Amino acid sequence: MKKTLNDLDFNNKKVLVRCDFNVPLKDGIITDDNRIVQVLPTIKYLIEHNAKIVLCSHLGKVKTEEDKKNLSLKVVATKLSELLNQKVIFIDVTKGSKLEMAINNLEAGQVLLFENTRFELGETKNDAELAKYWASLVDLYVNDAFGTAHRAHASTEGVAHYVNDSCVGLLIEKELDIIGNALENPKRPLVAIIGGAKVSEKIGVIDNLLNIADKIIIGGGMAYTFLKAMGYEIGASLLEEDKIELAKSYLAKANDKLVLPIDSICAKEFSNDSFKEAYDNDNMPSDMMGLDIGPKTIDKYQSILKDAKTVIWNGPMGVFEMSNFATGTNAICECLANLDAITIIGGGDSAAAAKQLGYSDKFTHISTGGGASLEFMEGKKLPGIEAIANK
Ligand code: ADP
Ligand code: MG
Repeated sequence: MKKTLNDLDFNNKKVLVRCDFNVPLKDGIITDDNRIVQVLPTIKYLIEHNAKIVLCSHLGKVKTEEDKKNLSLKVVATKLSELLNQKVIFIDVTKGSKLEMAINNLEAGQVLLFENTRFELGETKNDAELAKYWASLVDLYVNDAFGTAHRAHASTEGVAHYVNDSCVGLLIEKELDIIGNALENPKRPLVAIIGGAKVSEKIGVIDNLLNIADKIIIGGGMAYTFLKAMGYEIGASLLEEDKIELAKSYLAKANDKLVLPIDSICAKEFSNDSFKEAYDNDNMPSDMMGLDIGPKTIDKYQSILKDAKTVIWNGPMGVFEMSNFATGTNAICECLANLDAITIIGGGDSAAAAKQLGYSDKFTHISTGGGASLEFMEGKKLPGIEAIANK
């Protein structure tokens, strides 16, 4: 068991908190502050326990000097200050005397945020010198960045090895609790819905879920590699040729656990304006591609879901960004929103679909980590959590 906030004494201690402030931005404005909101309980806990709080996070992908102009965490500091109703000191560097002095001047209960950790090249390389440096600024480390817990970077993993003590924050605790419980001790039937574009991304999770779930419903682009493996012609649909054999082996191992679409909405082109029509699996025209699950499949999936007591959903059923191919995703999302069951969303695009439809409140839990929740469900250890001190 990893240490949690209750296991550490924060009184007057300098505490580095790794947050996931990797928020979506449009023209320099935060379009969804969910990730900031989700970490507030940890920050408030530390304020109440008289810690000197040093926050850090990455934001976006930093490749060039130009990227740095658009990826400053300053906007996050402003937003956070509004949400906390308290001043947040923003330091526009990641190293050096300006940062060191600001941290040493902190009073108990004050909050400081320093600049994007990825402005340091050593961050994603998990550079030991950088990790040691950040650790040297503080006494304790709290990791509450679930969204990046599957990455071993200097601020998510390395730093934990060089502080006096460490623990996970309330968000990580909640994520592990809800997703962990659903997998280890689920109310059954447990149904997993796996969709999205690529089989190769989600192969690992399907493999592990075959041992845990009662049914695994497949949708989205990845369904066609399975349908091909079953001997169907899939026209111009998405196919990962090198995964056909693997798909066959899963189908053989799964008996009737793995449930595939029986019909698809097919289109001539990958476009919302394209001609479209529903076809059963054995009738798909060679010049068309499946871009959504069809009406018969929706019926079938709804009838499986109506008895479910736990549902984990990762990945849309079709190209839901285009309104003509969003019907399947919307229908499944609506069905889940009205279920009397534990419902968990673990994927960025699925969460976006639920939000778009106004159903976010109807789910038990929407994970802040797409990749992290997938790796956790695969049964992999998350390095950002492994590095934290044990109880
Ligand atoms: P999540 O973020 O929820 O884990 P993914 O990132 O795995 O989901 O997949 C989402 C993407 O899959 C979307 O961009 C969607 O357009 C695409 N997709 C879904 N169905 C199809 C399909 N039939 N053909 C091509 N792409 C698809
Ligand atoms: Mg995605």
